[in-house]
Amino acid sequence: LEPAFQFMVRVRAAGGLVSPEQWLMMDRIAQKYANDTIRLTTRQSFQLHGVIKWNMKQLIQEVNEELLSTLAACGDVNRNVMCNPNPYQSAVHEQVYEWAQKVSHHLDPHTRAYHELWLNEEKVIDSRDGVEQEPIYGPVYLPRKFKIGIAVPPANEVDVFSQDLGFIAIHENGRLLGFNVAVGGGMGMSHGDNKTYPQVARTIGFITPEQMVDLAEKTVMIQRDYGDRAVRKHARFKYTIDDRGIEWFINELQQRLGWELQEARSYHFDHNGDRYGWVKGSNNHWHYTLFIQNGRVKDDNDCQLLTGLREIAKIHTGDFRLTPNQNLIIGNVSSQKKKKIDQLIQTYGLTDGAAFSALRRNSMACVALPTCGLAMAESERYMPTLIDKLDLILDEAGLRDNEIVIRMTGCPNGCARPALAEISFIGKAPGKYNLYLGGGFTGNRLNKLYRENIGETEILNELRPILNRYAKERLENEHFGDFCIRAEYVKEVHSGLDFHD
Ligand code: SF4
Repeated sequence: LEPAFQFMVRVRAAGGLVSPEQWLMMDRIAQKYANDTIRLTTRQSFQLHGVIKWNMKQLIQEVNEELLSTLAACGDVNRNVMCNPNPYQSAVHEQVYEWAQKVSHHLDPHTRAYHELWLNEEKVIDSRDGVEQEPIYGPVYLPRKFKIGIAVPPANEVDVFSQDLGFIAIHENGRLLGFNVAVGGGMGMSHGDNKTYPQVARTIGFITPEQMVDLAEKTVMIQRDYGDRAVRKHARFKYTIDDRGIEWFINELQQRLGWELQEARSYHFDHNGDRYGWVKGSNNHWHYTLFIQNGRVKDDNDCQLLTGLREIAKIHTGDFRLTPNQNLIIGNVSSQKKKKIDQLIQTYGLTDGAAFSALRRNSMACVALPTCGLAMAESERYMPTLIDKLDLILDEAGLRDNEIVIRMTGCPNGCARPALAEISFIGKAPGKYNLYLGGGFTGNRLNKLYRENIGETEILNELRPILNRYAKERLENEHFGDFCIRAEYVKEVHSGLDFHD
């Protein structure tokens, strides 16, 4: 008798864009094979939890029949390419989304093993010596996963500085000129090992759109050739760059490219969170960003999110976009359909989060317990309760509508990008968290450890006086993370190299 092992399945879509038919397929398989919920991730992918081993193959086949895939959603390859979630916001956003797809497809593994194993494809060997060829990844793939994200200023929803390779779109008068390139970001670290740290990507220059795919390919190949294959904790691209130096990387990259990067261009980011509710796009269609607490799509007493989105998908002729902050956009809605979709939003209790505090609207938590095997503490199941209590402090201080970015993870792997939040919690043990303060509001600066291994009472006792003081003493337009540095609660972190100082 075989044990009923259960798995998490991740399904990816470049830029998080899916059709209503694909949404209905995800809904169907969530009920048929998983735990009746769909989890939207911080990388614009889907996760299904509780899939029993003997249902895996059928599930993967049904996903592929609707032209989505689980290939390269995990593993030591380039993962889902993240992108601003709304291609119809402007002509520039549309072009940027197309480039995201090109980069994503170009970096897909060529292996047919996935198709042979899961999709019953016949075994095909495509080389002279009988070994499958991977032109980019080679025979042993990358030392670790690799992450790419593309931001369109002034929005930085993708947290471009958390990526191994980030592109910042430079546009002028509605025209895409190209991209600033940022390299060597990453969130993961290990508790008690100061050789590991989160890092922000550094900007190395500007390229034209046509140079993007070539640059992405050569960057991945440099990490393939120089990344640490002996110590897995040290195998991410950020350490390759920090060990050898950014100048070494630029030289190596330009040599492989055969051309030089231009000087980086100026740009400005306003925020790294989502903007909710209805907006009209450049194509005169409407887009509605739903607030989905921690990305969990399910039915409960307050809100029938899973059912509501199913009913919307049945009549929707546009698309759905998974945002980098675990929310969902009902996209490309015609003026005629808008009223009907609004009715369904009301009927099923879906929300744009307007009734919630700005803190909750800017919150993210990773999955953690009970389905993540690496979790040391609760995250998704606890964060809403903690925010209930923080909301009372915010109400007293008059800060309910002040946007403060808050994130929680159950371990230091950093799936919810906690090192870039203004307030963040990283799990250490059941009920205990490290508290970090001072991250940049636009995702531009790492935060710093403020208190270690504390429980809820201490968390509230620590944050109450800081929030009250912020309410009274902040400068005009000063964000909470900036205030925590000015008021000397924590030192400013300039790079991952001084994160632990
Ligand atoms: Fe699991 Fe850690 Fe990622 Fe949270 S941050 S989902 S606990 S690996």
